[in-house]
Amino acid sequence: MNFYSTKNRGLKVSFREALMKGMPDDNGLYMPEKIPDHRSLIKGIEKLNFQDISFVLAKSFLNNNFSNEEIEEIIDKSITFDSPLVNIIDNINILELFHGPTLAFKDFGARFMARTMEKVVAYENQELNILVATSGDTGSAVANGFYNIEGINVIILYPSNKVSIIQEKQLTTLDKNIYALEIKGTFDDCQKLVKQAFIDKNLKSKINVSSANSINIARLIPQSFYYFNAYSQLNSNKSIVVSVPSGNFGNITAGIMAKHMGLPIFRFIASTNANNTVPQFFSSGKYKPQSSVATISNAMDVGNPSNLNRIMDIYNNIDALKNDLECWSFSDLETINTIVETLGNNNYLLDPHSAVGLLGLRKYMGKNKNIEGIFLGTAHPAKFSDFIEKEINQKINIPNRLKKIIDKEKKSTLLNNNYPEFSDYLLSNFK
Ligand SMILES: *Cc1c(COP(=O)(O)O)cnc(C)c1O
Repeated sequence: MNFYSTKNRGLKVSFREALMKGMPDDNGLYMPEKIPDHRSLIKGIEKLNFQDISFVLAKSFLNNNFSNEEIEEIIDKSITFDSPLVNIIDNINILELFHGPTLAFKDFGARFMARTMEKVVAYENQELNILVATSGDTGSAVANGFYNIEGINVIILYPSNKVSIIQEKQLTTLDKNIYALEIKGTFDDCQKLVKQAFIDKNLKSKINVSSANSINIARLIPQSFYYFNAYSQLNSNKSIVVSVPSGNFGNITAGIMAKHMGLPIFRFIASTNANNTVPQFFSSGKYKPQSSVATISNAMDVGNPSNLNRIMDIYNNIDALKNDLECWSFSDLETINTIVETLGNNNYLLDPHSAVGLLGLRKYMGKNKNIEGIFLGTAHPAKFSDFIEKEINQKINIPNRLKKIIDKEKKSTLLNNNYPEFSDYLLSNFK
């Protein structure tokens, strides 16, 4: 499979090039030149396990660059935890995507990208230094995905005192090839430092720097695997509707791709928080990017979602898209009420992001009966325990994998928000 740029379909590159470059030079986004047809996978899918399904799907995207044995190894090392479909009540099900090391769905994409990059780096026999600016969640998934991978260092920049205690521990306790830089500044300052490094010719002539951007196609591909895995766990003749809590719209893009591969999903719902750029676009027909506003589902605080261009690339026009996708925005108050009610009525504790997903599904079901509903559980509630415990007046059980991290010692380097200081650090520590 080759990949083109959404800004120029004539410009095609291999998976390997799309993976290592992240973004084409024309600032478009990489897309598969043809969405592979996997209709033959559907019949009998209930007999396949998650890894079997993932292998078949991954092969159709990676086969030009990797052998079957290599693809098997990538799947073996990245798809190492399950995505169970859990019934909440009647025809409402949650697809739990938070059983990975950092307790959020971003583990799937980050781990798959890390294992594909590992193979390329081993082949090229050179050291790679990945720079990541993070406001919390992306950084920890990337750090974990690349942990202990030969030939690749990850340098994470995070704003000092501006991430939660759990998030900071997730970023600073890994050690080995993971380096945490605590920047005296904001997330935007961290991002500026990273951007400056990428255009610094002197630095780039001395050390090999790369990114692990969230728009990398290698993060999107594995996210389509769990939609198929959800279907394999469902025993229903009804039309399937999937609600996806959305920020940068990567997760829902992967779902829409799965549908176009042949997965029988009747309709998607993109559920957003107060950052309602896409719902506004759907109702007005005009796309107006906004500055992001802070909400309790903060991993979805995105005012200009990049993956919308990928969705528009799949559909010829907005009317065709509206046939497949509904898009609604929900407030923090609605989100809190949903968390409290779902715990009280169904004895299930949601995190704020997943709660936004359930809100979208319920709104759809209010008008459309006789469907089977799935919403994506994108994070474990324990990640947001400070906030949720106050709302529900009870303690949350912390999973063991998180408890272990909390007891570990933080290791980070404190730097001023100053480019020369950052580049000196890079030049004296890496090659
Ligand atoms: C990143 C994130 C989202 C949003 O996913 P997108 O692919 O950016 O739409 C939702 N929930 C959680 C917990 C996240 O970390």
